[in-house]
Formats: sequence, structure tokens, C-alpha cells
Amino acid sequence: MIELNANYREAMAHQIYSAIGFLVVPFSILALWRGQLLLAIPPLATALLCAINVIYFRKSQRLPVERLFISVLYIVDVVIVIHELGTVGAFWAFPTLLALYWVHARRTAVYLVGIFYVSVCAAGYFALDPETSLRFAVTLLMTATFFNIASGMFEKQYEDLERLTVTDHLTGAFNRRFMDSKIDELIERNKRNGGTASLIALDIDHFKRINDDHGHSVGDRILVDLVILIRDRVRVLDSVCRSGGEEFLIILPDTSEQMAKALGEELRLSIGSSPLLKDSQVTVSCGVSGLIPGDDRDSWLHRCDQALYCAKRSGRNTVAVPAPAFFNDVVAKA
Ligand code: GH3
Ligand code: MG
Ligand code: MG
Repeated sequence: MIELNANYREAMAHQIYSAIGFLVVPFSILALWRGQLLLAIPPLATALLCAINVIYFRKSQRLPVERLFISVLYIVDVVIVIHELGTVGAFWAFPTLLALYWVHARRTAVYLVGIFYVSVCAAGYFALDPETSLRFAVTLLMTATFFNIASGMFEKQYEDLERLTVTDHLTGAFNRRFMDSKIDELIERNKRNGGTASLIALDIDHFKRINDDHGHSVGDRILVDLVILIRDRVRVLDSVCRSGGEEFLIILPDTSEQMAKALGEELRLSIGSSPLLKDSQVTVSCGVSGLIPGDDRDSWLHRCDQALYCAKRSGRNTVAVPAPAFFNDVVAKA
């Protein structure tokens, strides 16, 4: 399951914190004016933390004060308001419920709403008359249920959308957009933590001929089956991307060039011996390159392409690693 992008969730929280600033502060100031310190100070403290988050978010896109901390404080505020104001205070429970779903990931929100529900119903039990207290508990439960359903649908749609933006629609492999960001992420991670990472560029040999001889739809089916075959062999952490028509890039974290070459060889052999086509063999050529210090995305991919080019030039159905620099010059001139 794809969790809602953390920064997207923080942006949503930032909107709620702006609204809390505008809506809560006037009431707190009124309470302060009337000398009702219990009704004024805790919400003002919450609003201050929200304001810090809003200001900081506009500058750096991050929220310095923990969302969970603000939510717990806000729940305490609402309990105090219900205890102090009775029915009028109970109105605050409804927008708070919605804010919790908006600010937190759904799983966290469900726990928080549970705690919130029990706390405000307990406050209502003591502060309201029995019938109002019961009506309050029931309507709040209904609101929570409806919003839980709505937020579930919202997250599902977000997941679908996110999956669509990173997936190649024919094969289900990751697309170039994902491939580029995954490579950048891996380079950054290895800059900080060290370690190894490798790429395998895999290209079907004479695919144009396969299309010409068997038809485009058979070609399509081979692409789909090939991705299933590769995915069955690689680890969950590895990413299989479609980098072009009949070209794929496998991104392998924590994998040395030697290990990647062995995997490329294994894939080449199993693809060559699998019945992708009934009457003839489908073969692939692979170029492998390990990440080296100082690499950026272009240089890493370029070495991998060069290796693939070497594999093609040496007769196809083979795996190659980057040639030494002097050999690249020869290839470039050829
Ligand atoms: P090489 O061994 O040098 O890689 O030769 P090749 O024929 O595989 O490579 P070439 O670049 O000449 O042709 C690639 C072919 O892949 C041409 C194009 O029609 C086909 N192709 C690209 N995308 C798709 C697709 O989505 N479906 C199908 N069926 N064919 C595709
Ligand atoms: Mg090809
Ligand atoms: Mg190609």
C-alpha cells in the first residue's frame, strides 16, 4: 500500500493550522477579556504552536512541532471547553473530529478519534443533561463514521493516482518518471551511507523482427510476460522499470557490480530458455553498471548504456559490464 506522501499530508495539516489560528484565537481573546483563563490559555497555546508550524512551513515546507503533540493538546482543549461551556462547547467537537482525519494518516487518525470520542463523551456526560449527552454521543459517532468512510475513499483514490503516475500501463513495470526519481534517491542515499548499488539495462534482441513475424499484439504479450518473469526473480527491494519500448532497467540497491552481472546472466539464461514464443527463442542483451563515487544519474546510466551497447556489438544474448575508459574511446570512434 502507498501511504499518503508525507509532505502532502503536512501541507494538508498546514491548512488546518492556518484555519485554527483564524477561528480559535478570537474566541480565546474573548475568554481572556472575560477573565476565563481556563478557556483562554490552553487554546491560545495550541494556536501559538499552530502558528509556528504555519510560518515555518511557508519557509521550509516542514512542520517543526509534532502534529501528534498539537492534536493531543487540541483534544484536551475541547474537553475543557465542553466541561466549562456545556452544550455550546460541544459544538467544537465536530470540526475537531474532521481536523484529526485531515491532519493525520488514516491509521493514526482512527486511534486519535477513538481517544477523542471517549474523552469528549465523558466530558459531555458530566457537563450536559442526559438526553443532550446521548444525542451528542450519537451524532458525533455518526460524523466519525461518515468521515472515516470518506477518508478511506480519499486515500484509495490517492493511492490509485500515485500508482498510475509511476506505472507503465502495458507491462505494470515502473515508468521513467519513477525510474529517474528512484535513481536520484539511491545516489543520495549512497552518498550519505555508502554501500553499493547497480543497474541492469535489459533489451530484447531483434524485437522488431519478432513484431514483424508474429504481430504487434504478440510483441505486447512478450513484454508483459517478460516483466512477470523478471519480477519473479528479483528481490522486493529491486525496481523493474520500462525505460523505453523494449528496454528495461532494473535498479538494484545494495548490490555490487559483480552480483548484478551474475543476476543479469541468470536472467538472460532463464529468459532464453522460457517459452515466451512458441516456435522460437526470445533472447535479451544486458548492460550492467555499479554505482561509483561521484556518479550522477546521467553518468551512471551512460555507463550502463555503454555496457548494453557492447553486449549488442558482441553478438547479442550476452551480459556486459562497462568497458575500461580507453575501450570506450574505441567504441565511440567505431
Ligand atoms: P536490437 O537487438 O538491436 O535491440 O534490435 P531491436 O529490433 O530489438 O531494436 P529496434 O530498436 O530496432 O526496434 C525496437 C522495436 O521495438 C521497434 C518497435 O516497434 C518495438 N516496440 C517498441 N515498443 C513496443 C510496444 O509497446 N509493443 C510492441 N509490440 N513493440 C514495441
Ligand atoms: Mg532490442
Ligand atoms: Mg532498444
